[in-house]
Amino acid sequence: MAGLDPEDWEELKAQGHQMLEDMLENIRHVSQGPVWQPMPASVREAFKTAPLPDTGQELGTLYQQFASMVQPYAVGNRHPRFMGWVHGGGTAQGMLAEMLAAGLNANLGGRDHAPVEVERMVIRWAAEMFGFPPEATGLLVTGSSMANFIAILTATRNVADGQALRQHGVGGRRLVGYAGESAHGCVARAFDMAGLGEQALRRVPMDATFRMDMTALESLIAQDRAAGFEPFLVVGTAGTVDTGSIDPLDALADLAAREGMWFHVDGAFGALAKLAPDLAPLLAGLERADSLAFDFHKWAQVPYDAGCVLVREPGRQAAAFAQSLAYLSREDRGLAAGAPWFCDLGPDLSRGFRALKVWFALAGFGARELGQVVTRSCALARGLASQVQAIPRLELLAPVTLNVVCLRVVVPEVDDLDWLNGELVKDLQVSGVVAPSTTRIGGVLAIRVALVNHRTTEADVTILLDALHSFLEVRLAHVKMMKTLESLAGA
Ligand SMILES: *Cc1c(COP(=O)(O)O)cnc(C)c1O
Repeated sequence: MAGLDPEDWEELKAQGHQMLEDMLENIRHVSQGPVWQPMPASVREAFKTAPLPDTGQELGTLYQQFASMVQPYAVGNRHPRFMGWVHGGGTAQGMLAEMLAAGLNANLGGRDHAPVEVERMVIRWAAEMFGFPPEATGLLVTGSSMANFIAILTATRNVADGQALRQHGVGGRRLVGYAGESAHGCVARAFDMAGLGEQALRRVPMDATFRMDMTALESLIAQDRAAGFEPFLVVGTAGTVDTGSIDPLDALADLAAREGMWFHVDGAFGALAKLAPDLAPLLAGLERADSLAFDFHKWAQVPYDAGCVLVREPGRQAAAFAQSLAYLSREDRGLAAGAPWFCDLGPDLSRGFRALKVWFALAGFGARELGQVVTRSCALARGLASQVQAIPRLELLAPVTLNVVCLRVVVPEVDDLDWLNGELVKDLQVSGVVAPSTTRIGGVLAIRVALVNHRTTEADVTILLDALHSFLEVRLAHVKMMKTLESLAGA
């Protein structure tokens, strides 16, 4: 046997075909199983105690372990009734693209090869999707957390005399940025990781519709300037995690231009609404951003992981990240040609071929079909919201802008409604029937329903409401019984 290649290729191929067949069938019938089921203690224990293998096992044996110990206990986001978090559902086509990419084992940090051109192509397509100019630069990354971080670092390196920060650090500068109170936690973490400190991110209060309050923002900036701080960045969110609200992007673009600040948009999932003709107007102003972070692995259903950062003006991103290192020198021909490279645009040198699955999604479904997925999710969300408003025991906690519905059960029989709603969500998740999540809206615990999966239909939303109703009846019967027992004990 030479190296690690199989001794018997025919045997390997048969095993591979079986795995492919099984997984495609598994995806095809995913809605017939539970959304999620807890991992048995024995399975968890097996992972926790498994020693480092000294000698190799058969691929078939490993596959059996995967099939019995991993596959049944996955997070459940492929299932149409996974409504807990903004996770994409993935596609069989995306899985096949992943397989091909792994087969090539390309490294997209740089050098002159076709996979790099595929990534350049999808970055150019992404720029077009969001109304960025074709010369915009960008990078496929793990997700919006990394994309936001790269954009925020890029913004810090593009302040006045920003190049000096790359040599001396940000220590001497009092740079501050602004984001809404409902901005994702990764924005504050990016400030932390950038060495600015989380406190340098000012949190702007929200208005009644959960959008950044522009008046509050302007007065925060004025206060900071008066106190000797250097406002350099404002982050708008297009699709907040809690309610799906969209900050006033056009007004933010105006303000950033007026104030000489960088305008970044976190559009992790919401930016994709740009592909839906009925929703795109909600995102007016997004195309004016200096940078944008968004995910292909959420609404575009590309298998994890696939995030993207775009930077409008060429040269800005490289100004923040490019280095000149002798062993990475660029040539006019041969493998070291084709600069600038993706390693000049972010922190990673070695990078996988995420671009292939993104290409297969954008070209395989087309922008219009992906837009229709977004339209359908949002229509389902609006439908759910109006049902919630019509059911006396349910309360809608926030207006529905996109695909997130926050609701709660309100009944006179129970005093602690946070407890009740939290238990109901756990009941639903553990049942395997449907999986919403929770968040806090205006100080109360909300049942949060995020509709992202391309497989979700109206029937699934009906099952959610039916199951919620059934578990509520069980809980109320229990509460009533306890009260009866208490009064008997007291009598
Ligand atoms: C999901 C999300 C993020 C984080 O993106 P990841 O891809 O999970 O890293 C950031 N911001 C918003 C608004 C999100 O919805």
